[in-house]
Amino acid sequence: MAEMKSDIAVGRAFVDRCIELHNEKKLDGSTASVAKYWVSELQNKIANQCVQLHGGWGYMMEYPIAKAYVDARVQPIYGGSNEIMKELISRQIFN
Ligand SMILES: Cc1cc2nc3c(=O)[nH]c(=O)nc-3n(C[C@H](O)[C@H](O)[C@H](O)COP(=O)(O)OP(=O)(O)OC[C@H]3O[C@@H](n4cnc5c(N)ncnc54)[C@H](O)[C@@H]3O)c2cc1C
Repeated sequence: MAEMKSDIAVGRAFVDRCIELHNEKKLDGSTASVAKYWVSELQNKIANQCVQLHGGWGYMMEYPIAKAYVDARVQPIYGGSNEIMKELISRQIFN
């Protein structure tokens, strides 16, 4: 749980920074793509760890943790898949 808390704190700090940049009209597509890619992967990692933590109960659809696990899985797909996010990020690296 300490690892999860640390991961979430780092992810939140980056998203908060992106919001600040957006409010200052300075958020570029590559930085936003980093946020979408990295935080959605993190969400899956955390949801997966939470299911493991809860054991078999975490797999039962009656429990919120299973719903969180399923909901996390779509994040790297919609809103622009993470493969496409990585393409956008790499374009800026090589431009
Ligand atoms: C619940 C849900 C809600 C949605 N809501 C909306 C919405 O409100 N508005 C909207 O416009 N769309 C919406 N979508 C669509 C969503 O944006 C697309 O599912 C997403 O863009 C991926 O496109 P696709 O499903 O056609 O997959 P595909 O484009 O067929 O991709 C399939 C796989 O191939 C990979 N891939 C594709 N191209 C490349 C490439 N060049 N390099 C490497 N890998 C690649 C993808 O990353 C993915 O893993 C929604 C989807 C879902 C599941």
